[in-house]
Amino acid sequence: MQPEEPIVAGACPVCDGHRRAVLARGGRDDPALTTVVCCGCGMVSHHPLPDPAAVAAYYAREYRLAHKGAADPKPKHVLRALRGAVARARRLAPLLPPGARVLDIGASSGEFTHVMARGGFQATGMEPNQGYAAFARRTYAAPIHEGGYEAAPEVPGGYHLITLNHVLEHLPDPAAALSRFHALLAPEGLLFLEVPNLLGVQKRAATLFHTAHIWNFTPQTLAGLAARHGFTPLAGENLAETSVVFRRLPAPCPLPPDPALAARLRRQVAEHQGTLAYILSGTAFRRRWHRLGRALEEWRTLRQHRCTTTLAQALTAAALPGGSDRINKK
Ligand SMILES: [Zn+2]
Repeated sequence: MQPEEPIVAGACPVCDGHRRAVLARGGRDDPALTTVVCCGCGMVSHHPLPDPAAVAAYYAREYRLAHKGAADPKPKHVLRALRGAVARARRLAPLLPPGARVLDIGASSGEFTHVMARGGFQATGMEPNQGYAAFARRTYAAPIHEGGYEAAPEVPGGYHLITLNHVLEHLPDPAAALSRFHALLAPEGLLFLEVPNLLGVQKRAATLFHTAHIWNFTPQTLAGLAARHGFTPLAGENLAETSVVFRRLPAPCPLPPDPALAARLRRQVAEHQGTLAYILSGTAFRRRWHRLGRALEEWRTLRQHRCTTTLAQALTAAALPGGSDRINKK
């Protein structure tokens, strides 16, 4: 990559720095996409950042497209969402008091809200896509409200747990979101954040970056952003990953940024930029092979179920052994 003049941008949400270096030009769905890295802390984002109204319009378009075609998620996506929801429920339920108040932001087709509600928790969700929210209510009778996190209702005593599964990277202003969650949570409430991990990814920039992911996190920048808004990882969490349960603290607890991270990410992206290097690495082949295996397994599983509702019942029953109203805590 040719060195370029640093870009001056607005204050970084992790370190307040203004200097950015270009990490990549071009993305999966937009050849004009420019991705930059904060020179102070390694936070990666689009440049310029999109206007929040434009992001809302983007999701509004997606919503209309969804309604022209298939308003409901495909069965294979429901299967993946249910399996993910069961895994998250098994991880998070043991951390909660019985009957805890749980809020899922970006609840999609409602699987996590459904599984947690079946586990005896007061689970609700927020989902901006009307088609998916309607699917969740129809299929699972899940209490999913239409809208983004801004519209999430306050509850007396605050929520015990707020979850965002692959949602934070889509938000125009993740700092404002974390600030809001701090206000919505109970004094020692939990925040579960899972985002894609940019660190160590072996992909070409043309397939790695895309319009919908405004922010690209690493374990360091995720923890750094959370700390600035009063969240610290629970003891025992794997801090080498970007799937972390945080506990709410009374006040912010900023972490020192890692100024070496930006250079490390630039080297990583540059190393996987060439098509030949990418082919020789075998990454594309391994990924296709993995997808083929997954497609076959999903096809076999889906064949055993008449419709999405019976699939959901079967997978949720597996998470609730013996007809118990509590999620299996093993
Ligand atoms: Zn920064």
